[in-house]
Amino acid sequence: MTTTPQPAVAHPLDQLYRTCVHCGLCLQACPTYRELGLEMDSPRGRIRQVMLVETGKLELGPTVVEHLDRCLACRACETACPSGVQYGQIIESARAQIEQQYRRPLLARLARRFSYATIADFSKLARTARLLRFYQRSGLQRLARASGLLRLLRLENTESLAPRIEDDFFFRDLGKTFPAEGEKRARVAFLAGCIASVAFAELNRATIRVLQRNGVEVWVPESQNCCGALHVHAGLHREAQVLARRNIEAMRRDNLDAIVTNAAGCGTTLKEYGLLLADDPARNSAQQFAATVRDVNEFLVQLGPRRPPCKLNARITYQDPCHLAHGQRVRSAPRELLRLVSDDFVEMPHADSCCGSAGVYNIAQNQLSLQILKTKMNDVAATHANILATANVGCMLQLRAGVAQGKLNMQVRHVIDLLDEAYGKTQA
Ligand code: SF4
Ligand code: SF4
Repeated sequence: MTTTPQPAVAHPLDQLYRTCVHCGLCLQACPTYRELGLEMDSPRGRIRQVMLVETGKLELGPTVVEHLDRCLACRACETACPSGVQYGQIIESARAQIEQQYRRPLLARLARRFSYATIADFSKLARTARLLRFYQRSGLQRLARASGLLRLLRLENTESLAPRIEDDFFFRDLGKTFPAEGEKRARVAFLAGCIASVAFAELNRATIRVLQRNGVEVWVPESQNCCGALHVHAGLHREAQVLARRNIEAMRRDNLDAIVTNAAGCGTTLKEYGLLLADDPARNSAQQFAATVRDVNEFLVQLGPRRPPCKLNARITYQDPCHLAHGQRVRSAPRELLRLVSDDFVEMPHADSCCGSAGVYNIAQNQLSLQILKTKMNDVAATHANILATANVGCMLQLRAGVAQGKLNMQVRHVIDLLDEAYGKTQA
């Protein structure tokens, strides 16, 4: 690796990895280390590999790339680290260098190019989603599964993780403003998300209803786009910067109390636009933008959520999305909301340990991701909950696959979706 300055980090890479004192206190917090037991797949081991490559003592070859690719970027190591190592910035910077200097196999390059270009462009995304929906609804999916074709192509697991495409994409709601119910307490811009707009459009609508119910006027900026989180995690910083600049421009408006998202992964990236554009002329507006971003759970609890008329008759447990717990340090807000929804909230063991979703990790590192998911589902099953709540759409897809594989009798729901249901209930 060279010492070319990387746009997504505020500090040079050598300053970042020098804060690591190699104590090893992060090792047991790391899901890949716990599964594989290899130092090279631990935070400390990865930092060392980055450092050796950076100083020219180790070649940036397939072995190093494999160990860095296996990192979930879950940031559990940041929470565990007593030295304040900013591991997220280290791995993102290292991945940017891999992207510039390492040539992946042709198929991987084509798949990456197609996926990242598609999510960055809502028209392309809509076209691809319609094709996927046709596959899912026309009987082709049933045929592909029953014929054994997917197994033959070794795509069975990957295919089962694809989101179910909804009928009514959220794109038609772009540009609309939804009025507050009752006394207006705040005015926010809502980030719809890319995959969420085609596979979780109803969740987006539920989020808007919950905000309205809490006296919030919700504006859905028309020219918004993907937040760039998946691009940042893949090391595609230039592409992520383009998306960030467009979102900042799209949401430039006075009198906004917050920019709200219901996806933890998007929220972390939006809150880090200041870092992403640290060397850019737009850095001041990026910092202002980032300071205004709130996860919807965090926003509602800060606002003071209105009580639902009735609670749900269900035992609920909660999986912390890594990017909410470790990336944004938001842990208590979703739990507070869930306690408004049910009197039977139970904590699961290791709730803030990654489920193995991690953006496209569950596709790119399918076997390891499923191994991590299996460990997670053992903790989930121990709660005997009827509902497994979380606060990130990627985690929902992964956990639904875990529930199906484990044949558990359990729904996987977003916290805000549950709150929406509770608000819709009438007192008996
Ligand atoms: S990252 Fe932090 S916890 Fe892990 S070895 Fe380095 S200093 Fe210790
Ligand atoms: S980000 Fe997660 S997977 Fe990566 S080294 Fe840290 S704890 Fe391990």
